[in-house]
Amino acid sequence: MNYPFLQGNKAEIEQMTAVLRDLSKCETGKRLIDEAIEHQTTICFDGAMRAYGSYDEVKNVLRLNPSSSKDRLVATAAHELRHAEQFQKGILLDALLDTPKSYLQNQAVIEADASTTATLACYELAMKGNAKPLETLREKDPHIVNPFQNAAVQGGLENGEAQRAAFKGWFTDYSTRDCYDSLYLKMYEQRLRNASYAEQDKSLLREVPVEQTVAAVCSMSDGKPYLSEKETKEFFSDPDRSTVSYSSFEKTYMYLFRRFRLDYSLEAEGNMKKFGLTMRPSSSYMPRSVVPEPLPLPTSVEARQAAAAEKIAAARASSVAARNKKLILNRER
Ligand SMILES: [Zn+2]
Repeated sequence: MNYPFLQGNKAEIEQMTAVLRDLSKCETGKRLIDEAIEHQTTICFDGAMRAYGSYDEVKNVLRLNPSSSKDRLVATAAHELRHAEQFQKGILLDALLDTPKSYLQNQAVIEADASTTATLACYELAMKGNAKPLETLREKDPHIVNPFQNAAVQGGLENGEAQRAAFKGWFTDYSTRDCYDSLYLKMYEQRLRNASYAEQDKSLLREVPVEQTVAAVCSMSDGKPYLSEKETKEFFSDPDRSTVSYSSFEKTYMYLFRRFRLDYSLEAEGNMKKFGLTMRPSSSYMPRSVVPEPLPLPTSVEARQAAAAEKIAAARASSVAARNKKLILNRER
C-alpha cells in the first residue's frame, strides 16, 4: 500500500506509510484510504499541533501529530479521514455564518460520527487480530468504545446499533464537548477578523438543521444511515443537546448580543433561550458519566490465527534463544 499524497521527509513518509498500511488491513480503513486517494487528500505530520490530528477542508490537508504512538496514529488517521469524507459529501458548517446552535450541533455531529467511524475501523482491526489501536482508543474514549463494543459483540454492527451507541456515547463526555465549544469561539473570531462587510451582515443567521447533517454523514459502509430522521429528531430534542459549556456561554452570548442588539432588560440566560441555547453545568462539577464495562471481544478466526502465530513466533524465538544459550554453554565448557 503506497499512499501517493504523503508529504514529509523520508523517515516521516515511512512512518506514515506504516500507519496507513495498518489501517488498510480492515474494510473501513481501506475504504477511507481509497476515497482519500481519489480526492487527492494530502497527509502530513505536524509537530506543532496540540491535537492528535486535524483535517483542513479548505486546503484538503490531513495533519497527524507525530508524537503519538503508532496505534494512536492508526485511530487518528481513521478519524481524520472520515472528516475528509464528510466534507466531500458537502456539509454546511461555517462558524461565522451559522447560528451558534446550528454550528455547535453540526460540529458535534461530525465529531461524533468521526469518532464512531474510528471506533468501527479499530474494532474491525481487532477482529483481524490487531487489538492495539482499539485499546489505545479505549484509554481516552471508553464512553464511545465500550458502548460500541457491547452492541457489536451482540450483533449490532449490521443494523447500525453499535454505530448509534458510539455516536450517542460521544455526547456523554462533557469535557470533550467543552473543548469543541471553545474551538467554536476561536473559529468564529478567526472568521470575523477576515470577513467582508457583506459577510458580517449575514453572520450568525444561517440555520442548518442537524437532521440534514446527520443524513449527509451518519452512514454505514453500505451507505445505509445508522440514525434515522426520527431517531435524530428524538436525540436532539433532549435539552442536553442544546447546551453551551459553562465556560463558553458568556462569550457566545456576547456575540449574539452585539450582533442583534439584544434586550438589556433580559439576562443572558433569558436572551440565549431565544436562540435555543442553555448553559451546561461546568464539566468539572459534573459527575463523570457512567461508562459500561466492555463485554469480551469475540475471538474471530483471524484473531485466533494471529494469536497462534504470535505464540509460535514467541516459542520459536525462545527456542532459538535456548539453542544459542546451549551453544554458548557448549562453547564455554
Ligand atoms: Zn474530529
